[in-house]
Amino acid sequence: MIVRFWGTRGSIPTPGHATSIFGGNTTCVEIEAGEELLIFDAGSGLRELGSSLNKRFRNKSIRASLFISHTHWDHIQGFPFFEPAFRPGNHFDIYGGLSNTGKTLDQLFEGQMDLDYFPVSLSQMAATLTFNNLDGIPLTLGEATITYCYLNHPTNTLGYRIEHQGKVIVFATDHEPPSEIVHPVTCHVNTISNDFKKLFYGTEILIADSQYTEKEYPKCRGWGHSSIAHALAYAVEAKVKKLVLFHHDPTHTDDIVTKMEVATQERAIIMGDTGIECMAAREGMELEL
Ligand SMILES: [Zn+2]
Ligand SMILES: [Zn+2]
Repeated sequence: MIVRFWGTRGSIPTPGHATSIFGGNTTCVEIEAGEELLIFDAGSGLRELGSSLNKRFRNKSIRASLFISHTHWDHIQGFPFFEPAFRPGNHFDIYGGLSNTGKTLDQLFEGQMDLDYFPVSLSQMAATLTFNNLDGIPLTLGEATITYCYLNHPTNTLGYRIEHQGKVIVFATDHEPPSEIVHPVTCHVNTISNDFKKLFYGTEILIADSQYTEKEYPKCRGWGHSSIAHALAYAVEAKVKKLVLFHHDPTHTDDIVTKMEVATQERAIIMGDTGIECMAAREGMELEL
């Protein structure tokens, strides 16, 4: 599999000199799994991915599967600017979980392109778009199997596990450890729940929410995000090989994210896990499995 990071930021796009290394676009990750083209989240990074796909496919039609973690703005705001969705002949299968409000996935996508917010409607996108509400059954696409479970976030949010030829990547963003497994004073995670363990276990690459430093987390408790210490605790317990820190806070400059990357790796060594590699996601970064 090949993983490409088109958007690494959480909450709101943060362009500018201070974020030029780790990137300012909101969440979007592309995974090539053999012949299958899989996209995770449609944050503002999706616009750049669209340009890249147009170049790569030239006049050939594009078929891809787009998996949405949830429909907070930073995870869908790139979709109205996804140029391949305006081209007839292209085909996108869009998958997501159940919304808390009972709206279907297509209603949620239509909503952000309502005339009050955007000049072009969803129905004017000329590609074939199919919307699929996931109901717990694993998906098989070519040689890839995708399983998923709900994370802990203020709205229903899915984390995805992608398995292909014996290798595993997990995309799990916008997740806060449930309060019963976080120590109330130290904020350390004691153990992970069985659902998450199943999702994360034995992963080669875990792309995980790690929005806050340990110091910041207590002030942001309940907002649905993890600290670097939480992400590392999960990764170590689930025997992950590479932890990719993701969903960078909009207030975090490149300097701060670099320090968080170093602190996470040092902490892994203190915890006695010298086998795990910790890195912060950079826009434009490509990893191969
Ligand atoms: Zn988010
Ligand atoms: Zn969110």
